[in-house]
Amino acid sequence: MLQLVTFDLDNTLWETESVVASAERTLMAWFAEHAPLFVERLDSEARKALRHEVLASDPALRHRVTDFRLAVMKLGLLRAGYAEEQASELTRRGFEVFLEGRHAVTFFPHAERLLQGLSENYQLASISNGNADVRKLGLDKYFSVIVSADEVGLSKPDPAPFLTALQRAGVEPQRALHIGDHPEDDIQGARGVGMHALWFNRHGAEWPLSLQPDGEVRCLGDIPDWIERFKANR
Ligand SMILES: [Mg+2]
Repeated sequence: MLQLVTFDLDNTLWETESVVASAERTLMAWFAEHAPLFVERLDSEARKALRHEVLASDPALRHRVTDFRLAVMKLGLLRAGYAEEQASELTRRGFEVFLEGRHAVTFFPHAERLLQGLSENYQLASISNGNADVRKLGLDKYFSVIVSADEVGLSKPDPAPFLTALQRAGVEPQRALHIGDHPEDDIQGARGVGMHALWFNRHGAEWPLSLQPDGEVRCLGDIPDWIERFKANR
């Protein structure tokens, strides 16, 4: 019996890369106005180098996108010449600007109807490596469990985010289905803890791994029928 359906967020319920790129452009425009030294003294190469430097000094940050982004921003502001306190304040405000843009997402077709329909029959959980917050998007009414790598400290495909969702939902892995776009992070990760896994293959790519998902769909609207077939065949 299927009791829990867990969802990846980025590139599963909405397209992410263009949204993050746009949020970063908005942030740079904000910096140009509020922290001009940051823009004048650090070119894009220097800003990229900050990311490597921060990761080298604290590799665990690769699992926590929010803390990572905050650390990169603060280091950049310090390097640009802002004093500690000012750098902290600009980091805090700048991150708010970024987050606002980060949530300007457009749901994929059928996303909200899918969540609403499934939430009538199953517990739903979100399991994300990113820093989109379903509460900010008005989707928290569908999810009884919300898990982020930021909060767990380990990102998919590590078992920890999956196990956290299962534990919070009080559901055994064999009664849970994870849906996501990423072969390793989502499908391999979920299968690794004994969950079922459905690949959201929006672009119709070839499956790249030896371990197979339980199935794949190219459109979110196909998921309810897929779940019914999956249950009937087991
Ligand atoms: Mg994803």
